Parts: sequence; structure tokens; C-alpha cells
Amino acid sequence: MKIAAYSVAASEKPYFEQWMKKNNVEVKLIDKPLSINNLNEAAGCIGVCLQQAPKLGDESFYQRFAEMGLKYIGVRTAGIDFIDLASCKKYNIKVTNVPAYSPRAIAEMGLTQALALLRKLGEYKETMAEGKFSLNPNLVSNEIYNLTVGLVGLGHIGGETARLYRALGANVIAYNRSHKMEYESVVEYTDLQTVIEKSDIISLHTPLTPQTKNMIGAEQLRAMKKDAILINMSRGGLVDTAALIDALQKHEIAGAGLDTLADEAKFFRKDLPLDQVPADYKTLAAMPNVIVTPHVAFYTTTAVENMVNIGLDNIYRQEEN
Ligand code: NAD
Repeated sequence: MKIAAYSVAASEKPYFEQWMKKNNVEVKLIDKPLSINNLNEAAGCIGVCLQQAPKLGDESFYQRFAEMGLKYIGVRTAGIDFIDLASCKKYNIKVTNVPAYSPRAIAEMGLTQALALLRKLGEYKETMAEGKFSLNPNLVSNEIYNLTVGLVGLGHIGGETARLYRALGANVIAYNRSHKMEYESVVEYTDLQTVIEKSDIISLHTPLTPQTKNMIGAEQLRAMKKDAILINMSRGGLVDTAALIDALQKHEIAGAGLDTLADEAKFFRKDLPLDQVPADYKTLAAMPNVIVTPHVAFYTTTAVENMVNIGLDNIYRQEEN
């Protein structure tokens, strides 16, 4: 039995090696993402193990995939929107993913950014660089157990986030489209408008869907507290970026922590000359009360190990059964 793994990052290689040794199965490690141009590298394998990637191709890609005797696409992340599921069904290709490789990793990054913004670390860095070390009344902070944290979306990541804030003594309220009993002890359920109006920290954890696209726009930002902090660890499209920049510039909210941006596909995961970096990002990143990270909230050793192990197990177990 042999599996081909594409888009293999250096940080993943040790976990692939460990999995091969443990299961006595060969995995061919390929650096580049899978496309019709390098599909031949998977010749002789039972399936492929992928990271989120550009679209694989049109129907002819899947036809060729099946003709080569490949049976499985094991995605080692959650998203499978780059795969044509209708073609997979037609050619009897089984698709699996890893829906939760470490919700805690993303929850911890959201908390980290919220606390850094709450304690105004960006502003201190800026004023201290100017030689200003005196107590500045504009930079007095709040303590987390005095605050209300509002979560939008209470799934794997929202739930972990709720537990972390609750452990720190914050009042945690949440809006989710369905009521989940398992979080009743850590959150008080409410509606979206209440989360927007009452929260000191608003943390977004829904997927991007037609219903959630731009759910935080000019109107919602105006309705937030003036000292509210917005955290988006989910998908950039949940927030109207232009409206957010406007609200920050008008001091309608106090700050933002963003691991995702609406136009991130143009530049996240790439190393670019600075003149090719989008202007919106540059505007946000230059603000001391904004933290932007390049979609790395998931990027911990635990998550990487789980992605590799579960992604490969999903393929291996189907073949074994
Ligand atoms: P999940 O499916 O476990 O939870 C999503 C929750 O959102 C569910 O409880 C669902 O009921 C709720 N929901 C969906 N639509 C809603 C709506 N219109 N209104 C209110 N609630 C709604 O997903 P998860 O694992 O918690 O992940 C959440 C999101 O985090 C993912 O969709 C992904 O976009 C993002 N994510 C980011 C990173 C990162 O590194 N930054 C990593 C993984 C996932």
C-alpha cells in the first residue's frame, strides 16, 4: 500500500515519517500542491493526502484520477471547497477531511490577540519607541473578569474559546444559530444584536456562508461599544474590511485582532514584494490597535501532528475495511 501526500510542508515531514514507521505504509512526500500536471507522481498509490489547495481541475482531472486506480482524497484540513464532489461521486472517489484538528489552537490565538489588544501592547510599543515612558491615562487597561465576551458561532472553536474566557472569569454570552446543551454551563445564549451591543470583546467563529458574509458591517460596528475589541479568527469575509477600517479610524471601536482577511488569497501563504501587498492590509497593520496574522491561528505542533495523522488514518482505515 502506498499513499501520495501533496503540499507537504517542512513542519509536517517528521509526523509523516512517524506515521509511516508506525503503520508500515509508504507515503510519497511531494512539496507542490496537487494538479493535473503532477498527478502522475501518485501512480501506484491508493489515494492522495492533501492540504487545502487551489481547485484540482475540471471533470477530466477526476476521470484521470480514477483511471490511475486512485480511490481516496484525504484532505488533512477541514475545508473541501476546492474539490468537485459531484465528479468524485461520478468516479467513485471517496473524500475525507479533518473537521477539528485542534480547535484549542485557534481559540488560544483569539484569546492571545484579545488580551494583547486589551492591554494596549501595540500602543505601548509605539509610545515607548518615541521615548515616552510616563503613565498615560489613554492607555489604562481593563481586567478580563470585569468584561463581557460575546461569541458569534459556538461550534468546535467557539466552544473552546468560551471555555478559555470562562476560565479567566469573564462573563461569556453567545449567539449560535442552534442551541447547544454542552455549552450551557459556560455561556449565556442570546441574539446577535445583544452580542454586538453588550460585548467588550466580540469573537467571530461561524463559517463563511451567504448568511454570514459581511455580518459585521458599518451598522454593526457603529452599534458596538466604543471600547469594544473585534476578533476574527474565522473567515475574512465575515467582516466588511472597508467598514472596519473606517470604524477604527473614527474610533467607533477600540481595536481588532484578525487572523483572516477577505482578500487574503492574494497574499497570505506567499512571500511578496511590498508593493504587491494589498493597501487594506497595510492600513490595518500600521494601526497600533490592530493585530493581523496571516491565517496561522491553527499553526501549532499539536494541530500539524493531528492533521497529518488523522488525514492519513482516514485513507488507511477505508482501505483496511
Ligand atoms: P463548527 O462547524 O464546529 O462551528 C461553527 C458554528 O457556527 C456552528 O455551531 C454553527 O451552528 C454556527 N453557525 C453557522 N452558521 C451560523 C449563522 N448563520 N449564525 C450563527 N451561527 C452559525 O466550525 P469550527 O471548527 O468551530 O470552525 C469555525 C470556523 O473557523 C471555520 O468555519 C473556519 O472558517 C474557521 N477556522 C479558522 C482557522 C484559522 O486558522 N484561523 C482554522 C480552522 C477553522
